[in-house]
Amino acid sequence: MKQPAHQFASDNYSGICPQALDYLLAANQGDVPSYGNDDWTQRAADQFRALFETDCDVFFVFNGTAANSLSLAALCQSYHSVICHETAHIETDECGGPEFASNGSKLLLAQGEHGKLNLADVERLITRRSDIHYPKPKVVSITQATELGTVYSLEELHALRDLADRYALKIHMDGSRFANALASLDKSPAQLTWQAGVDVLCLGGTKNGMAIGEAIVFFERELAADFAWRCKQAGQLASKMRFIAAPWLGLLETGAWLSNARQANATAAYLEQRLRAVPGLRLMFPRQANSVFLELPATAIAALRAKGWMFYTFIGVGGVRLMCSWNTPRQAVDQFMDDLVSALA
Ligand SMILES: *Cc1c(COP(=O)(O)O)cnc(C)c1O
Repeated sequence: MKQPAHQFASDNYSGICPQALDYLLAANQGDVPSYGNDDWTQRAADQFRALFETDCDVFFVFNGTAANSLSLAALCQSYHSVICHETAHIETDECGGPEFASNGSKLLLAQGEHGKLNLADVERLITRRSDIHYPKPKVVSITQATELGTVYSLEELHALRDLADRYALKIHMDGSRFANALASLDKSPAQLTWQAGVDVLCLGGTKNGMAIGEAIVFFERELAADFAWRCKQAGQLASKMRFIAAPWLGLLETGAWLSNARQANATAAYLEQRLRAVPGLRLMFPRQANSVFLELPATAIAALRAKGWMFYTFIGVGGVRLMCSWNTPRQAVDQFMDDLVSALA
């Protein structure tokens, strides 16, 4: 049976986008200092400061689990707690990395519709106890765009900041798909982060079109004190740092990071539109970024898989997650829809 050339499993199934690859190859000319003491790393960090319009501290690590785990560890003592959504990647997909890196800071799970924190539930967790036996709440962690393909609006971010201020909490943002949220919201990177009170952002490069690499951006710079040592100890200091930094520079300088995200979002919007035209199909959440979730009968799932289609059914609350990437073509959607319609018949 003919395998489809494309998939909807994850944006990390995709390869390297041309701009990231061009800069990677350009960085492969000659010898340069190691451990980030090179021009590429300096230029990439400066480019982040220009992008966010502020004097932030920037670190490059290999993956998102490390970015989240190490940045949360930097915000917490071992007796602190981090409040996050029950479907948060740090809870469900990092194998206890944040707790491990922080020597035991506990994640407290809040509920909320469509993958977004419900403020009343966050406040319930903060105020439930104040005695010495309860891990002291220190951080609220949000995912932007969320694991369920929705985004926090600017108003929601500000409301969260107000709540965090009332209890002197830090805000950590898992921005594995921050570019997709940005493309969806039409606000500036500054507006959606430090101007909305985000203290630290883990910014995803891999799913956006790089081979490897995430950036950790500290807007509150005192929080980054000694962070380089933490990265080194955790095995996250790349000696050939230029090969993470240069592709980042490529994404930012050419604007590809945003056009890649726009492209992925637009393909997901097209997929959503095609799915909505099928009578009886139920989409599970509003589609606001680059993924669509839907309910399908087990027989249809099996039929699609038999045709070679790849997608996840374990994310969040179950259902079929269809994730679009920077390089997902419309024809993939069309082909998938043909196969879906016959699978449902
Ligand atoms: C993919 C992803 C990450 C990073 O995962 P790694 O595999 O460790 O790079 C972090 N947060 C979210 C929400 C993700 O989807």
